[in-house]
Amino acid sequence: MLPDHEIRKLVRGLKEEIGLGEDDLVADIDSLIKLAGYNLEESHFRDSFSAASISRAPGKFLILYNKNHHWSEKFRRFTLAHELGHLTIPSHRALLVANVIQSSSPEYTSLEATEREADKFAINFLAPRSAFKKEMITLGYSREDIMSLSDTFQISAYATAHRFVELAVDFPCSLIACHKNGNIEYEIRSIGMKNLVRGHRSLNSLPVNSSTLANEFIRGVNDTVTIQLSLSEWYQDLEVEIRAKESVIDLGYNQLYLALIEPFSMDLPNEDDQGPQDRLPSERWKDSYKY
Ligand SMILES: [Zn+2]
Repeated sequence: MLPDHEIRKLVRGLKEEIGLGEDDLVADIDSLIKLAGYNLEESHFRDSFSAASISRAPGKFLILYNKNHHWSEKFRRFTLAHELGHLTIPSHRALLVANVIQSSSPEYTSLEATEREADKFAINFLAPRSAFKKEMITLGYSREDIMSLSDTFQISAYATAHRFVELAVDFPCSLIACHKNGNIEYEIRSIGMKNLVRGHRSLNSLPVNSSTLANEFIRGVNDTVTIQLSLSEWYQDLEVEIRAKESVIDLGYNQLYLALIEPFSMDLPNEDDQGPQDRLPSERWKDSYKY
């Protein structure tokens, strides 16, 4: 896997080439693809790919976008930025030149190194690290906050929550993508969450616990989008009791519900001795906190 800083360098290079600064947001990806000298063809391809890149002639590349996978404009932008990754990352481009077609899976669903590198390229292209951080610290990790960030950067709620967890180094939070079939498809933890549930097995492929809000969504009986629960309802091997907040977003495609998990932290009693108070880490970005 290419390290993050290498991918960011490649993103910076492409953005410079098309007249954008590293932290500039991408308003119109179609015109940027043209500016970069690539052609785009959109059609209802029968293949299972979301998009693909191919070499047509020396120096001529074509991006194919599969309209059968057109879940939203935000999804499309990420998918096209992912293809720009294949066309920019030297080892991927070399494969294209050797006439290997790069067929791409939907955002963050593939474990293949080239797909993950292209996903990283896409997120850095559309949601630059410092620009995203600047926005996220004015917000938190609630459903509304993720939807608002999703609108600002014009990327899906999935890509937004993924980016949030990746950059929320200082505090614990998780993104758990739950399939409508009742199993956990994908789970990622911030560094803070990795420390909090240290050594806990991955939740990937486990069934969604019946006492979670995501399970209510799966059963179609939810009447709210946020609840409080014990963190051990998700991380069942956890031996200490930690209260947490769970919000759920119906992604609307790929049969996924996104569970956003953020544990409450325990404040020490203050000088007025009003007792400890539960607060969410994202409500206190600039404080230090203890569990
Ligand atoms: Zn790909």
